[in-house]
Amino acid sequence: MAQQSSDADWVARLADEVIAESDRRAPGKPVVVASGLSPSGPIHLGNLREVMFPHLVADEVRRRGVDCDHLLSWDDFDRLRRVPTGFDPSWAEYVGKPLSAVPPPPGSPYPSWAEHFKAPMADALARLGIEYRGISQTQMYTSGAYVEQVLLAMRERERIDAVLAQFRTKATPRPAVPPGGAVLSESDEAAAELAAEGSGAAAEDDGGTGAGYFPYKPYCSVCDRDLTTVTGYNDDTTELTYTCACGHTETVRLAEYHRGKLVWKVDWPMRWAYEGVIFEPSGVDHQSPGSSFVVGGRLVSEIFGGQQPIGPMYAFVGISGMAKMSSSRGGVPTPADALAIMEEPVLRWLYARRRPQQAFTIAFDTELHRLYDEWDAVERKMAEGSASDLDASSYDRAVRTAARELPRTPRPLPFRMLASVADITTGHPEQMQRILSDTDPDHPIDSLDQVRPRLDRAQAWVDTQLPADQRTRLRPEPDLDALAALADAQRGALKLLVDGLDEHWSLEGLSRLVYAVPKLQAGLSADAKPTPELKIAQRSFFALVYRLMIGRETGPRLPTLLLAAGPVQVRRLLS
Ligand SMILES: [Zn+2]
Repeated sequence: MAQQSSDADWVARLADEVIAESDRRAPGKPVVVASGLSPSGPIHLGNLREVMFPHLVADEVRRRGVDCDHLLSWDDFDRLRRVPTGFDPSWAEYVGKPLSAVPPPPGSPYPSWAEHFKAPMADALARLGIEYRGISQTQMYTSGAYVEQVLLAMRERERIDAVLAQFRTKATPRPAVPPGGAVLSESDEAAAELAAEGSGAAAEDDGGTGAGYFPYKPYCSVCDRDLTTVTGYNDDTTELTYTCACGHTETVRLAEYHRGKLVWKVDWPMRWAYEGVIFEPSGVDHQSPGSSFVVGGRLVSEIFGGQQPIGPMYAFVGISGMAKMSSSRGGVPTPADALAIMEEPVLRWLYARRRPQQAFTIAFDTELHRLYDEWDAVERKMAEGSASDLDASSYDRAVRTAARELPRTPRPLPFRMLASVADITTGHPEQMQRILSDTDPDHPIDSLDQVRPRLDRAQAWVDTQLPADQRTRLRPEPDLDALAALADAQRGALKLLVDGLDEHWSLEGLSRLVYAVPKLQAGLSADAKPTPELKIAQRSFFALVYRLMIGRETGPRLPTLLLAAGPVQVRRLLS
């Protein structure tokens, strides 16, 4: 059993492997772990795994007292490929410019397109406790940090071309079935493509031109776009001649010209060698034959004198049940959207508890309530000391990092109940506090802070994800026609409920009461075992109460609804 747990604890196993490899390659140096993101538009929630996966391993390394440097490469020197959906189409005039040189969307406080989209991601990562060293590729390239590597790649261009040529013929389309097992639907494929765009993997030409192969592409010194073609290069003088679609032609000395970059398939292995990366996972789209990870593995050793990192594949993370968002944000779910409705540890837990090769879905609809229930169950097991080793380790990675504890809700009342209460009261603080205190009269809530941040996430969920036609609104006045038309049995059941309110006014008490009413009516005791007939009677009784209170057949859990309405209003509406 213990053996099984340690096999399943993929974080610990990878940390062992990464530390050992780092000791072999760079003894005495910090373990270098890397992620990369391209701020080409809103950074998709699906891309969070690109940072979270290495983070969990880096954090485990740090917990063991070993120095670890988690690099996050911001690919802000990539070209703007297209204007994302939902943004001003006139930005198309900037296509081909580096993301760091494109103006931000109108009204943004940030100086560039890249900074505008980096900022919310950086904020989400900070909230999640993910510590990293951000590296702007614009800063690296334009400062000349890579000049030796660029000149080396140009000198070795024929060998690079020969390696690439071996893969060009073998190129196969991206696999439709990720090793995680799930078959991607068409919309998943579209999302995967979007996600790939955020990870620097989108298709890019690898440097072939009519004048030969050049692994470097300059940005034009006149129009700053990469619509350039290298037409000649002199290894001795480093003089490079290019023409641009704008009509400009120029010869520059590459040793001094820093406005350009290596093509992606050469750029990535160059950085592995430059930074001494030991561990860098990547998505399924990087790992097919001829893909950048595979080609990079050859180039890093044959050209740059480095070694390919340990680079396991991670599976796709899908998003489900998200309400339509305003198109001004591109309709793209971001980590900030997830954090608006999920406590930080809950979001971390989704990644910590699953092997990275497992695809999964982050739900924004009522599935989220179930997720919180599961999380609360694990937390209870932890408190009782009955959690499995595996549950305990993934829980621990969710709630804290080597550096700090993540915020937790002191009184974690069920998320679905908080959402119902926020919904029914339309967020009215005093009403919420009264109702939540009534749920457990022996331990009332002194302040709503005791149920924060969860309450705020539940409120945000109601505000952004709960469709208007599913909001719960108490009837302001009794439905007199319906009350007059009640059958005797229905009237009797409602009387049993109303008469029991005072005695049972707590979440637990009302739960017992609403299930007991149909039993008492059938002449059984309140704790009789439910039978199929009783279940039918319970269902129709609940539907009756919902109709009379909120004019619908279903609604929030009945005890929560009764508590929210208060005894006076319940009596008015039901008798
Ligand atoms: Zn130009």
